[in-house]
Amino acid sequence: MKAIQLVAHGTPGKFELRDVPEPNAAAGEVIVQVQSCGLNHLDLWLEEAGLPIPVPLPRTPGGEVAGRIVEVGGGVMDWRPGDRVAVQSNLFCGECEYCRRGEESFCLRAEMLGIERDGGFAEKVAVPARTLTRLPEGVDFDTSAALTLAGSTAMHMLTKRAQVRENDWVLVIGGASGVGSAAIQIADRVGQMPVSHMILIALAGVGAGAINAVVGSGTLITFPTLVALGYPPVTATMSNAVGLVAGGVSGTWGYRRELGGQWHRLRWQIPASLIGAGVGSWLLLHLPERVFEKVVPVLLVLALGLVVIGPRIQEWARRRAEQSGQSPEHVSRRRMATLVFGTFLIGIYGGYFTAAQGIMLIAVMSALLPEDMQRMNAAKNLLSLLVNIVAAVAYTVVAFDRISWAAAGLIAVGSLVGGWLGAHYGRRLSPTALRAAIVTVGAIGLYRLVTI
Ligand SMILES: [Zn+2]
Repeated sequence: MKAIQLVAHGTPGKFELRDVPEPNAAAGEVIVQVQSCGLNHLDLWLEEAGLPIPVPLPRTPGGEVAGRIVEVGGGVMDWRPGDRVAVQSNLFCGECEYCRRGEESFCLRAEMLGIERDGGFAEKVAVPARTLTRLPEGVDFDTSAALTLAGSTAMHMLTKRAQVRENDWVLVIGGASGVGSAAIQIADRVGQMPVSHMILIALAGVGAGAINAVVGSGTLITFPTLVALGYPPVTATMSNAVGLVAGGVSGTWGYRRELGGQWHRLRWQIPASLIGAGVGSWLLLHLPERVFEKVVPVLLVLALGLVVIGPRIQEWARRRAEQSGQSPEHVSRRRMATLVFGTFLIGIYGGYFTAAQGIMLIAVMSALLPEDMQRMNAAKNLLSLLVNIVAAVAYTVVAFDRISWAAAGLIAVGSLVGGWLGAHYGRRLSPTALRAAIVTVGAIGLYRLVTI
């Protein structure tokens, strides 16, 4: 293949258009067919030998690559030939302490593309799959290549370091530079959410609030909606948990009459839920985001499985109670302990990933308790609400800036209405229809999660 290579340092340095061997995709790497490659000041420093590290020549410069994948190496699961991608210039390791904290720009073992290994002034380039970003539709290769370093630097400065919010005044020093001009454009749009996104998120909130009040797993509507609109999974989970507290309040309030006579049991289940939720929130905040991205689809599959087999669990438990001739009121100590422990585990799950915890609670309670559905549902609403409150408080205290407050607010407004509607009308809906809707929505969410 053809590549432009720096063969001698200088101002100007000596470049040659050469035939070089095709790159090979090592394990964990992909070959990107370069469509555009930005020119960065790093390329000029490389040319004049102005970098603090020695660079052996010849070297193919170019760190700001956008293109199409043409080949994937062993162990690469998430990418396919044909995918349109941008490449992060700083080829981070993904394993050091900084990478694990999501601070890849501080990576201890990073290689600069086009400096420490051959870059994108060539027909093809080999890069680790973990450094790829999928190009959204509507972003062309030239735009992507122009944004790679300047755009991400400006974005990081404005949103993570300065945390600029809507209506803030921003002074950009050096507005004609790459970073400066990107900063001006980003600052101009920061905090703006398209009206269509607002409507979608609020409607998802209504749906989630209503479904939570009646069945549970409303998160399977709001969470995929946020992910589909481009929110990172952890931000989506946190914003969603904060927003859905409102729907939990209206849903629990709507079912308050059914809570009567359940306090002898709830006084054990409530602390179990609260402690579990604390553990789950801690896990979410301390496990790296990549672990989260791998675990969520598995949990979603489990949750959907429970939605599907929920009625069978209930039927099985009812038959078992009939066969053993137990008094429908009696709950043995062992069953009570199992119930409280199950509530604790579901609390952990709920604090980590709120979706479908209600379904799991109902599943566990209906397997262990001689209660009717509506009364268990009331208990489920209360316990889920408590878990969500713990999680929401933990996220707010520890990760305030990772929550999208606009999204959380819209979900809150939507779910407040939805929770009320669900508690009021939901009992008239066919449970089968609701389950089908949840499984459909959940499957779409799952698909989006594994393909995004
Ligand atoms: Zn690293």
